[in-house]
Amino acid sequence: DPRLQAISDAIRVVPHFPKPGIMFNDITALLLRPAVFKDAVDMFVERYRGMRIAAVAGIEARGFIFGPAIALAIGAKFIPLRKPKKLPGEVISETYILEYGTDCLEMHVGATEPGERVVVVDDLVATGGTLCAAIKLLERAGADVVECACLIGLPKYKNFYKLNGKPVYILKDSQ
Ligand code: 5GP
Repeated sequence: DPRLQAISDAIRVVPHFPKPGIMFNDITALLLRPAVFKDAVDMFVERYRGMRIAAVAGIEARGFIFGPAIALAIGAKFIPLRKPKKLPGEVISETYILEYGTDCLEMHVGATEPGERVVVVDDLVATGGTLCAAIKLLERAGADVVECACLIGLPKYKNFYKLNGKPVYILKDSQ
């Protein structure tokens, strides 16, 4: 697909951010190019339209940039999966292990119904730990997680053993 090259070119790699040794894939440059931003959203929309997706769940914060655009285009609802203590209502939460320490995702009780077909969206998958926590959270609420969708995947983690058997759809492989 010729759009993939433009998407790939629009992702800026920033060395040593947020700490020395990390090559950070910055998607904000892509957002400044509306045609490329649209191409990225369109590619997900083309994949999920017609798959009877009831909900798009976006992971804070960059899943909140792409998720709602995809949800609106396919006629699905949008579920924000947030960092702790941000959601005002009753929540369920899932803690997961990072390289250093732990993190947590929360979702409002009642955001999804049992059996609903859900796609999880984030900008980037590295170890898959974040997506895995999102899958567990949604499955605990009875949702049917169909797939995870990311713009960028880091190939050194390509086997994605952590993703509970769920496929990950990636637009661009990165280092
Ligand atoms: P994982 O849990 O798969 O190891 O890490 C993925 C999470 O970390 C995602 O929520 C993603 O936004 C964030 N992340 C890690 N590295 C990068 C990066 O280089 N660029 C961006 N944009 N996000 C990153």
